[in-house]
Amino acid sequence: MSDTSYLNWPFFAPHHGELSRRLDAWAGLHLSADHGDVDAQCRALVRDLGRDGWLTHAVAGTDVGGAGQVIDTRAICLIRETLARHDGLADFAFAMQGLGSGAISLQGSPEQRQRYLPRVARGEAIAAFALSEPDAGSDVAALSCSARAEGDSYVREGQKTWISNGGIADFYVVFARTGEAPGSRGISAFIVDADTPGLSIAERIEVIAPHPLARLAFDNCRIPASQRLGAAGEGFKLAMRTLDVFRTSVAAAALGFARRALDEALARARSRQMFGGVLADLQLTQAKLAQMATAIDSAALLTYRAAWQRDQGQAVTREAAMAKMVATENAQQVIDAAVQIWGGLGVVSQMPVERLYRDIRALRIYEGATEVQQLIIARELLKGGA
Ligand SMILES: Cc1cc2nc3c(=O)[nH]c(=O)nc-3n(C[C@H](O)[C@H](O)[C@H](O)COP(=O)(O)OP(=O)(O)OC[C@H]3O[C@@H](n4cnc5c(N)ncnc54)[C@H](O)[C@@H]3O)c2cc1C
Repeated sequence: MSDTSYLNWPFFAPHHGELSRRLDAWAGLHLSADHGDVDAQCRALVRDLGRDGWLTHAVAGTDVGGAGQVIDTRAICLIRETLARHDGLADFAFAMQGLGSGAISLQGSPEQRQRYLPRVARGEAIAAFALSEPDAGSDVAALSCSARAEGDSYVREGQKTWISNGGIADFYVVFARTGEAPGSRGISAFIVDADTPGLSIAERIEVIAPHPLARLAFDNCRIPASQRLGAAGEGFKLAMRTLDVFRTSVAAAALGFARRALDEALARARSRQMFGGVLADLQLTQAKLAQMATAIDSAALLTYRAAWQRDQGQAVTREAAMAKMVATENAQQVIDAAVQIWGGLGVVSQMPVERLYRDIRALRIYEGATEVQQLIIARELLKGGA
């Protein structure tokens, strides 16, 4: 097991350390990184995480099965970090239950909350978050998927792509242009059940770290107005608020991957015989290990500062962007160094460091690429006027 002394940092309350240790023990018993059919594996992971209570942290409101009235950012970060250290797909399953239902936790009507959140928390319904489109990724306010009001329904047309859990989700929180105002002020959010006529999976997308991912097509897809989340025209703000809750947890997942890579690198460096000793005796190896450990601690400090600050009710736009950028970029470097330490074995398919090398890559792109985080940080600095 990794060094867990960081759990004594002042960012945490005693129950956070306890949560992390319990989950680590659970993960040791229940998770394996060997996946066959990722759809089946993902469904099983959601079921197991729900059955054993971990998904209660992914929804807000004790009345709907949540662990607390609001999402405890430090808890979801520790959960993602721990799951990522054991199995990237388990982290994905947990994260998507939170991200996919986050807009309902934040803005759902009492009926919507009761209908969806208890099942999400028990692992009985799989959630997805559908914002990106083929022509609107980083520039997400350019989205063109539309929803036209018609009587007491909306009729949706268009496409969404890169949708995690696409193909296995029971419902999708989908953002569409409803036209109340130009740009980001003319977008609304809807909950669309997977079996709604007119919604189809246009394409399954294979990525380097396999997980359910799809392009969705809406063709004359009629949704009752009661499935709209929040007020018409307020969807973009809701999407940004949802991403704000979970952005710091992407940093935590990267941290989990990086910690695992350091563990693997240390184990190999201590045992690999060469030049009359072991790899760890060589100073160039020691320099690499020192860089890796320092990169991890700097990422962890930024991540848990942002999580703590959010849990105090403070704005974290700048801090979460710094955490996401540094933790994902540092993890990429740490994992690359671990592959190097493992030599040829490091690039053999399904070796732990080879899996980590694939697992980390997308985190520098989704939920705001590194360049987008840089722009956010700079914008926050410049508006300070100092
Ligand atoms: C594995 C995976 C899972 C995903 N899951 C989901 C999901 O569940 N739901 C969902 O809605 N979306 C999801 N996405 C989509 C993701 O959020 C987008 O891929 C991301 O926003 C980038 O959009 P894009 O791919 O269209 O790249 P583009 O917008 O074309 O950007 C390409 C590159 O341009 C660079 N760039 C961006 N902005 C700037 C700038 N201002 N200046 C300079 N360079 C810049 C960045 O390097 C960026 O990677 C997922 C993506 C992946 C890869």
